[in-house]
Amino acid sequence: MKRAIWKYLGILIILCLNLTACRGEKNSVEETDFSYWRVNVCYTEDGLLYHDPNTEFEGYFDYETKKYFPLCSKPECLHDSGECTSVAMKQKATMAGRLGSRWYYLAQGDNSTCAFRSCDLDGKNDREIGEFSHTFSGGSSVCPFYENSCIFSSWDPVYDKDMEWVGMTSGIYRYHFDTGEAELLCPEKTYGASGGAYEVYGLYGDQLIYVEQEETRGAVLKKMDLKTNKEEELLRADFVSVDTVEGNHAVFRMREGNIFKLSEIDLDSKKVTGIVDIAEGESVFACWMPELKIYTVVNKTTSGSEKKFQFKTWQYTEEESILIREGGTQEYFMPTAMAEEILIGQVKGGQYEGDLLAYMDKADFLSGKNNWTVLSY
Ligand SMILES: [Zn+2]
Repeated sequence: MKRAIWKYLGILIILCLNLTACRGEKNSVEETDFSYWRVNVCYTEDGLLYHDPNTEFEGYFDYETKKYFPLCSKPECLHDSGECTSVAMKQKATMAGRLGSRWYYLAQGDNSTCAFRSCDLDGKNDREIGEFSHTFSGGSSVCPFYENSCIFSSWDPVYDKDMEWVGMTSGIYRYHFDTGEAELLCPEKTYGASGGAYEVYGLYGDQLIYVEQEETRGAVLKKMDLKTNKEEELLRADFVSVDTVEGNHAVFRMREGNIFKLSEIDLDSKKVTGIVDIAEGESVFACWMPELKIYTVVNKTTSGSEKKFQFKTWQYTEEESILIREGGTQEYFMPTAMAEEILIGQVKGGQYEGDLLAYMDKADFLSGKNNWTVLSY
């Protein structure tokens, strides 16, 4: 089994299943039963499913073989029509996860109907599990898949009788794949805001980590015990957005008045440690994996029609932050996950800025090299 440490959201549940391996002989195979979706990617222990905005098909990248290919097992398929399972899934899926030997995904159907669907790992045997009438919040929010279910925040736009947009209804749901039941964990709220009231960011053991916007009191970072559904406030600020939940720590950006900060919180003791202050015109992204606590400060300036892009990536220790990389658009690699000694990350250069996914050696990244490989088929 891989000693992968990709599971930086916190939990990894491994089911030991006896699966048929060769010629009907029983063999012991360990299967991952945890995965999560974030920004066009489903991360699993073995590889990732990529909803690439630049291609027609849903692609899979295998960490071990470093091969990237469409989710299709049809011989000599050109992967260019809805007949292909990888193209059909790309057209429907708004987010996806893996549990055992199946993919599960939320599909946008015709006539704005939505449903959860499931298929084999190679895209075959696609079937509907049940209708579900809400939209995944998307953005930087996370959808963890575990214990035959997934948990996510929903954002549904609200229109008045003249079809004018008036607000957003948001809730947190746990969808059960065995029963097709949608369990409401946080009651729906409707605000006249462009974003919804909830964003789910990950799991820490049995605790769900999420942010709830309260119309008069700002943003609240919370945890909910998924056994009792009891919720607890961790932190309150004018704005909170979580980058990473790793073990019992979360790294988040917050604003309090005019002060922007990247900070770390201990999810048990609620102790907050500041990492870096964020200046005007800067944005910050953090990736808190074991042995790789890094953050990147991005500075965008515009002079005339020319946009300039500069970044600095720091490795954090409790004593100091060490600058490990800096440069412009062509040198940018922002890690999102790690498997063995390989980093997965976003690089610039696609039609959709920042949406190209690439991989490179961890040691090369830390020594400042730019020798990544963009996922392409
Ligand atoms: Zn195909």
